[in-house]
Amino acid sequence: MSFISLKNVCREYELNKGSFKALNDITLDINLGEFLMILGPSGCGKSTLLNIIGGMDKPTSGEVLIDDKDIAKYTDKELTKYRRDSVGFIFQSYNLIGNLTVLENVMLSNDKVSEDEALKALEKLGILDKKDSFPSSMSGGEMQRVSIARAIIKSPRILLCDEPTGALDSKNGKEVMEILKEMNHNGQTIIMVTHNLDYKKYATRIISLKDGSLDRGDNVEESA
Ligand code: ADP
Ligand code: MG
Repeated sequence: MSFISLKNVCREYELNKGSFKALNDITLDINLGEFLMILGPSGCGKSTLLNIIGGMDKPTSGEVLIDDKDIAKYTDKELTKYRRDSVGFIFQSYNLIGNLTVLENVMLSNDKVSEDEALKALEKLGILDKKDSFPSSMSGGEMQRVSIARAIIKSPRILLCDEPTGALDSKNGKEVMEILKEMNHNGQTIIMVTHNLDYKKYATRIISLKDGSLDRGDNVEESA
């Protein structure tokens, strides 16, 4: 039994012109502790796949087994609990709230988080001195650190990253990758979408999507 097991997952959108399959029959197993990288051109379904694994969206058909439980069958209430307890998200656009301070943004991740825990996370990411700053006064690298602090504070078993370095320069991008690498070494399962092939070396496995399907072609490779 894999930690995460997608079976024949489809995500179809009804459009005026008929239906469109953003994901088409995805079957994929992800083991505990993997650092899985997902590549593929814009529009191929990468974000849709992450959202389904993270319980932010549901497949139109297929199973999404997490520890053998099908979250595709969860009620909204069960999904909210799953997201809260098990999933952290990091986005390209940081998704911070502009009129809250850094500390407030981090504490918002979870109503059970104490200020102490939030401060520890900020310290770990090297931005403790920014705790009372507002996002608009910070650099992209700093804002992404805040969003990482928010995502990891509850030590989610699954960390989903949607182009987390997409808006960063190469120095900050590499620093974010090093943080993710350390989290993965500490046992977190990471699934990351990226366009940057320089980051392939951080992955334990790389897959490619093409037109909503797993690309079984030359691009699919396993790193050592
Ligand atoms: P990627 O992240 O790989 O760029 P997405 O997963 O965001 O791709 O989108 C996959 C496909 O699904 C795209 O063609 C997109 O236009 C389509 N899509 C996404 N959301 C919707 C929606 N709400 N309604 C219709 N089509 C959508
Ligand atoms: Mg996307």
